[in-house]
Amino acid sequence: TASGESGAPATTSDPDCVFCSILAGKIPSAAVRESERIYAFRDIAPQAAVHVLVIPRTHEYANAGEIASGDPELAAELLREAAAVAKGEGLAEGGYRIVLNTGHHAGQTVYHVHAHVLGGEPLGRFGA
Ligand code: ADP
Repeated sequence: TASGESGAPATTSDPDCVFCSILAGKIPSAAVRESERIYAFRDIAPQAAVHVLVIPRTHEYANAGEIASGDPELAAELLREAAAVAKGEGLAEGGYRIVLNTGHHAGQTVYHVHAHVLGGEPLGRFGA
């Protein structure tokens, strides 16, 4: 659905996407941060003491590479918001991880780009 009226950035939405349903308020979520183009909320199955997902409101980009190519400013805002979430959650001093899974081997299950912000405790080494 386009929503370009009143100068707001156009966004797309997929009725079969769980994150689009969250953005539409059809599935409840615990908000952490909101801006015009970005929404951050707590992961339903946390993999660390703090686990927040940061997503663009638009569905049009499936992964990090697509958003960086298609809308570099929005990609940068996604990372800025992820860092702001980390700061707001008290993770800046101890450190944290921003994860952007892409595709099957990385375990990506939702093809609406999302940054995982993980921290609040020492994190295991990533990898296979
Ligand atoms: P994975 O499922 O392997 O972590 P992704 O990188 O695609 O793959 O991450 C999707 C994330 O979305 C998961 O961490 C999952 O717990 C989270 N998630 C799925 N449904 C919801 C929901 N309704 N509310 C909050 N988080 C959700």
